[in-house]
Amino acid sequence: MIVIRNNLIPFRGFTAMTVWPFIFVRKSAWYSNDIDRHERIHGRQQLEMLLLLFYLWYGVEYLVRLCITRNHDRAYRSISFE
Ligand SMILES: [Zn+2]
Repeated sequence: MIVIRNNLIPFRGFTAMTVWPFIFVRKSAWYSNDIDRHERIHGRQQLEMLLLLFYLWYGVEYLVRLCITRNHDRAYRSISFE
């Protein structure tokens, strides 16, 4: 996995985002070993699900949970991959 520190990806309010084989980390964020391990697990999940299926499943599950909870943070945190 290649870690890229920048100010654009992920959106403000998030620390890191994995799009295999890259881990994007906000420059201003504290990137701990726990977060690194979490993101590398997402990398494995993406590979195991052949990338596209992961993103599709993740997005659809987020939208379903957002409809149920009507709260972004609760929807995001209840996604099965998280
Ligand atoms: Zn995550």
